[in-house]
Amino acid sequence: MSRLRTTLTPLECSQRALQWVHKETLTQEETIALNQEVLSNFRDYVNPGFLSYRKSVTSGGDFGAVEWRASGPNTLVDTQGKEYLDCLGGYGIFNVGHRNPTVLAAVESQLAKQPLHSQELLDPMRAMLAKTLAALTPGSLQYSFFSNSGTEAVEAALKLAKAYQAPRGRFTFIATSGAFHGKSLGALSATAKQAFRQPFMPLLPGFHHVPFGDIEAMKQQVALCEKRGDGIAAIILEPIQGEGGVIVPPAHYLPAVRALCDEIGALLILDEVQTGMGRTGKMFACEHYGVQPDILCLAKALGGGVMPIGATVATEAVFSVLFDNPFLHTTTFGGNPLACTAALATINVLLTQNLADRAAQQGAFLLDGLRQLATEYPELIVEVRGLGLLQAIEFRENEIGYAFASELFKRGILVAGTLNNAKSVRIAPPLTITHNQCAQVLLQAGEVLKKLRGAQPNDIQLKEYAVG
Ligand SMILES: *Cc1c(COP(=O)(O)O)cnc(C)c1O
Repeated sequence: MSRLRTTLTPLECSQRALQWVHKETLTQEETIALNQEVLSNFRDYVNPGFLSYRKSVTSGGDFGAVEWRASGPNTLVDTQGKEYLDCLGGYGIFNVGHRNPTVLAAVESQLAKQPLHSQELLDPMRAMLAKTLAALTPGSLQYSFFSNSGTEAVEAALKLAKAYQAPRGRFTFIATSGAFHGKSLGALSATAKQAFRQPFMPLLPGFHHVPFGDIEAMKQQVALCEKRGDGIAAIILEPIQGEGGVIVPPAHYLPAVRALCDEIGALLILDEVQTGMGRTGKMFACEHYGVQPDILCLAKALGGGVMPIGATVATEAVFSVLFDNPFLHTTTFGGNPLACTAALATINVLLTQNLADRAAQQGAFLLDGLRQLATEYPELIVEVRGLGLLQAIEFRENEIGYAFASELFKRGILVAGTLNNAKSVRIAPPLTITHNQCAQVLLQAGEVLKKLRGAQPNDIQLKEYAVG
């Protein structure tokens, strides 16, 4: 069934929309009008699937909640004035909190001066950020390519590895089951989830997936490949799998993968798009394991929750494949002044406020509390996992996970499932979350679990939607 197109002209549409942007507060009538328009525009012009999805995850709660503003470093409010404690952190983008004042001030100054670059002269903030990242990242990582997302950071890493290894006759990639590296055709080849991959087959050739955390399985796959002449170009991993359900590997795993790469001449690509920037209690998760990659992918929290930015940081040996022709891989907006400024201010805040240490401390408190709940509700919870403030509760059934997230949503706490593992509900608040707020999460989680224990199975009728 095709829907009537809007009767407004494009000019009228844009004028009406801009009125909302300039409003600070909403009357009750405005709230109703705005909510209705947002819902119908999602239905008719964005994608009606999002509305069914929200209906399923909020189950009778306010599926049409429309967000309005960040109300504090760790909270946001919807158009109806309901406040949410953000335990999702925008899937890991708000490490320094919402509207961090240092990041905002820096970006506002750059905005007033020059938002985007000429693309011809040398742009100063890109140069400053590249040097800062060289100083911040482990080992001999030195040169940075900037883009606008995690997917693009991975895409650049794969292309760098290809360009470096092609003359060496190595074309094969090893990734892991449960991995999430993005959804562009290249990055998707490394991502492991069937539902995201199958409609787009065939993807890039030469990708093999082995069980995450199992070094013997990886060695076997590598040996099989090498035996038939498929030299390994690179192994790509998340140090801790995020969308796979927050999977922390055994302590020896990452060092063993590094040793394997060195032994066979493969590059190690670490995708720290979600685990980087202090999230797990160190600036980068690989620092827990004393491992240095040849290529490091960053994004999400790098822009401080203010600007989108991705970075692919590599050693000089690897990055030098782009020296002869720097135009071999480029993007118009990548490394723009606003994004680089945001990243510089974000790094400054992470360091001056020791937010990685905070993530370790608050993370341990929250994890202990959740593990206590797991022992109290073994019939609902399989396990609680995590490191720092990247945590997940694995439920026995998808439906219990949805019901849990949905009940917390009603109580004003935002959490959500992980993309590759619907049974696991993630908890990844801003690293600025306070001790009291963590205590509040534990209290509410306990009450929700108590309620779910008493619920009849068919009270929990939530269909699995796109994330399943
Ligand atoms: C989110 C994520 C990506 C993709 O980043 P986008 O900014 O969504 O493109 C890639 N890798 C990992 C580990 C991620 O968590």
